[in-house]
Amino acid sequence: MDVHSARGKSSAPSTTTENLNPYDIAQQQFDLAAQYVVDLPDGLRTFLRGCGRLLKVEFPVECEDGTVRVFSGYRALHSRVRGPGKGGIRYHPEVNADEVRALASWMTWKCAVVDIPFGGAKGGIICDPKKLSRNDLRKITRRFVVELGDSIGPHSDIPAPDVNTDAEMMAWIYDTYDMMHPGKNNLPVVTGKPVAMGGSLGRNEATARGCLFVTARAIEEGAAPGVRSIRGTRVAIQGYGNAGAIAARLFTEAGAVVVAISDSTGGVASENGIDVEAASRHKKQTGSVVGLSGTKNISNDDLLHIECDVLIPAAFENQIRNDNVAGVKAKLIAEAANGPTTPAADKALFQRGIPVLPDILTNAGGVTVSYFEWVQNIENEHWTEAHVNGDLKQKMEAATDAVLQMQIEIKDRHDASVDLRTAAFALAIKRVGAIAKTRGIWP
Ligand code: NAD
Repeated sequence: MDVHSARGKSSAPSTTTENLNPYDIAQQQFDLAAQYVVDLPDGLRTFLRGCGRLLKVEFPVECEDGTVRVFSGYRALHSRVRGPGKGGIRYHPEVNADEVRALASWMTWKCAVVDIPFGGAKGGIICDPKKLSRNDLRKITRRFVVELGDSIGPHSDIPAPDVNTDAEMMAWIYDTYDMMHPGKNNLPVVTGKPVAMGGSLGRNEATARGCLFVTARAIEEGAAPGVRSIRGTRVAIQGYGNAGAIAARLFTEAGAVVVAISDSTGGVASENGIDVEAASRHKKQTGSVVGLSGTKNISNDDLLHIECDVLIPAAFENQIRNDNVAGVKAKLIAEAANGPTTPAADKALFQRGIPVLPDILTNAGGVTVSYFEWVQNIENEHWTEAHVNGDLKQKMEAATDAVLQMQIEIKDRHDASVDLRTAAFALAIKRVGAIAKTRGIWP
């Protein structure tokens, strides 16, 4: 991604001087936190700051319109120190090497924050799924898996869904890998599969549910001055896909009032609360949330600047930046998306006393239930939804407490006031670093 480019052009200025390269941002976040991790040898620090492996593949696909097109795909593996690589696959025209490397590194830190035995990975294919048929996407997915070969596997690197990829595509990944490795239990090679073929109950809602658990816990612990409970909390959500739309439903069920939502086409707001079921139906029918009856249309910038208690970015990277952060009026930001807040915006929000529940904590519910799915597949088990959600709650609350505790520890030991992102990174780097040291450097 270029320095001046932010996804979601509607809110991207041409004037920002901020470096919006997500991999540079991930490394800045690492550096800020690593200074509080003592006993991390310099060489190990350099290793964890980088990305262990980046594969790029190019392959032809004969599309339904009769043309043969060449697609490029990436798979980045940041670290396998704590376990096999884990991370989604994204289909989007703006996928690039630095984006997948950043997302892979965030996966390492995320898995460490929620304390699950995975490293970090991420993949993507440069394509516009809106302009491709389902059959084209099936061929692209299958060919990508063949090109990746044995670089993915149930105990080496395990993909999952991300932006514009879904459960059926995960089934195609499994099926292709299974064709290549017959005679084995290959179900754990990919998570986010359809429930009927080894997917976990609760996986589809897990990212949003985890976001709710973290937000509720942080509020209970007094981390958001001026917000006392989820009940009655006014919430604005940017992005109305898997993470955002389901968050809208779950926050509403928990007693919050969703006052604004948006997608790539624009947004809508209502002082009295949006009927989220009607919004989902409207989006299904028209492809957009815009024009929902009983609401007024707003822009994506309006959404970020709306009066609310909790702002949930659930779309893409670099949405809250130095050029638009001043207008944010929320009392708390809960990052369901990966990388939505830039370092300059983090700094500004911290100075204004607006806490940011960071992505590597707040959206970790998805990978946590992916881990539960992987365990169920290995054990040939099928947990109930109550079992999944109960374990998810326990994991997310423990992780929230650990991050809040790390913020206090950094204050006590280093006399430094740091934001929750830095605390979460420091916790994760400490956990990954400790295992790296215990394992030792091979050979
Ligand atoms: P999705 O494709 O289901 O939804 C993305 C949504 O964002 C769509 O509604 C799209 O219209 C909207 N959008 C795009 N550009 C926008 C803009 N400029 N303003 C407002 N909305 C915009 O994707 P998803 O799976 O919900 O992922 C969203 C974010 O959550 C990503 O950052 C992803 O990495 C992160 N995430 C997802 C999961 C998961 O399990 N799906 C897990 C962890 C993190």
